[in-house]
Amino acid sequence: MGLILLNPGPVTLSERVRQALLRPDLCHRESEFAELQTSIRAKLLAVYGLDPAEWAAVLLTGSGTAAVEAMLTSLVPADGGLVVLENGVYGERMGRIAAVHGIRSTRVGHPWGAVLDGTRVRAAVQGMVGPVRVAAVHHETTTGLLNPTPPPGLDGRAPVLLDAVSSFGGEPIAFGAGRVEACAGAANKCLHGVPGAAFVLLRRALLAGELPQRSVYLDLATYCRAQDAGSTPFTQSVQAFYALDEALDELRDQGGWTARRARYRTLSARVRDVLAGLGVEPLLPARASSSVLSAFRLPPGRDYASIHDGLKRRGFVVYAGQGRLADSIFRIAVMGAISDGDVDRLLDALRETLA
Ligand SMILES: *Cc1c(COP(=O)(O)O)cnc(C)c1O
Repeated sequence: MGLILLNPGPVTLSERVRQALLRPDLCHRESEFAELQTSIRAKLLAVYGLDPAEWAAVLLTGSGTAAVEAMLTSLVPADGGLVVLENGVYGERMGRIAAVHGIRSTRVGHPWGAVLDGTRVRAAVQGMVGPVRVAAVHHETTTGLLNPTPPPGLDGRAPVLLDAVSSFGGEPIAFGAGRVEACAGAANKCLHGVPGAAFVLLRRALLAGELPQRSVYLDLATYCRAQDAGSTPFTQSVQAFYALDEALDELRDQGGWTARRARYRTLSARVRDVLAGLGVEPLLPARASSSVLSAFRLPPGRDYASIHDGLKRRGFVVYAGQGRLADSIFRIAVMGAISDGDVDRLLDALRETLA
């Protein structure tokens, strides 16, 4: 039996998705590929019931960061600016992306894990001239904090460009005009596909204005035009697309994102309960945490490596803290094909490793 992955992506695959990788070889210029791409685009919109007349899904080959970078570089007008909300690694990464591409931006920094301050968000948006976009992270995987969508302090003042890489398919997202108008996601987190396929969902109205082209490879207008015409500007990862198509069918068959979220919440609560019984404290209270991932403080005198290695010997891969949290927390994500039997074994493994 393979290892069960409890890192925040890539996830343990179901047999159904794994088998999809073995479908026939395909040229990305053939009609079969166009059908596959069109099918995935429609299924992605259907996850949240978005109207295809108003919304588009744009497919990319790359990891989640490719989709985030494509979203930020493609959707800020030349005379516009970006307010970036930061309370973890992924918000700070968006701030870096804006800086690297010379996008006029205001970074609203917070301590990692802190609740976003609506007053500061509002002031930053009001302080910008020209059309403003707001970049926010939904599930800050750094700490497991679930930020609200839309973020506080906006009241419809600016379209939100959301990093939903670790929440798409597993948490509610407030899509709509003046709310979340674009979001970036990846195949290998809550959708349970394989790494290599990523996407941006956007309101088509965002592409209607004059937009500068800041990247050759990551320009969403280029991709969207080609994909609407049944084509692709560049070679896509055909096998990752096969797997994503199947994973989206599996999500639908299992009851959609609400059922998946309920499953995650049950698993996360069981993990929290067992660890609480062993005196292991969560970094955040359950009500602030996502359904997808929980962060825990390393117990006094225990280093991360000993916990990781003990659990890995028992068949489970957990995840370290990032950056300045590397020496103080560990993280457990519950995405992927995890059976009830796996959960029972995991809880035993946690008891044995952390007792
Ligand atoms: C995983 C993740 C990403 C993307 O990371 P990649 O390593 O590029 O896949 C972006 N944002 C969040 C919040 C994530 O959890």
